[in-house]
Amino acid sequence: MAGRGKLFIVSGPSGSGKSSLINDIVNESDDFVRSISVTTRPKRKDETSGRQYHFISKDEFEELIEKDMLLEWAAYAGYLYGTPKKFVTEKLSKGKNVILVIDVQGAMQVIKKIKDTYLIFITTSSFKELEERIKKRRADSLEEMNKRLEIAKSELNYKKYYDCIIVNNNYNEALLNLKKVLDSKKGRKRHK
Ligand code: 5GP
Repeated sequence: MAGRGKLFIVSGPSGSGKSSLINDIVNESDDFVRSISVTTRPKRKDETSGRQYHFISKDEFEELIEKDMLLEWAAYAGYLYGTPKKFVTEKLSKGKNVILVIDVQGAMQVIKKIKDTYLIFITTSSFKELEERIKKRRADSLEEMNKRLEIAKSELNYKKYYDCIIVNNNYNEALLNLKKVLDSKKGRKRHK
């Protein structure tokens, strides 16, 4: 029988590479599932609804809040983002390790509700490096880019609340470090 899975939160400023790292982890390993968030942000060209996010309207989002169907939610750069509660609780009770890739405001809400959540913060060693990566991402408009840079500065202040910090200057090295942390903290399966 499966034991209770562990909940992980991965946060980090825009440009930290957190989404790519977690996608590689869940594609390689059956031990972890990633929760797909709902958002009111418009879909980018390279995104598919149901894959990176469930893209929904503001009305639909507000209905989810009213019906208490979100584990947490937050506003980020003018849009709303939230974690569907049912997916997370079901997977955890089935013994799956669940990863939420969410912002620092959401992380602070979740740790009040699920006490043994493990928090991982992904960043680069300098702000300049983040800045360059955010600027390189052509998918965002100039206005969006500047908003994300401003938010990145304030997000770095939350590092102190996290259990572990992974520096992503070298992608493969960061991936290896992240794997090690996740493997050492994941829920242990119990067998009858
Ligand atoms: P992006 O627009 O770049 O995909 O995401 C913007 C920010 O929102 C990122 O920091 C991302 O981790 C965060 N985010 C994505 N989904 C959620 C969510 O469900 N809840 C919260 N609080 N933040 C989220």
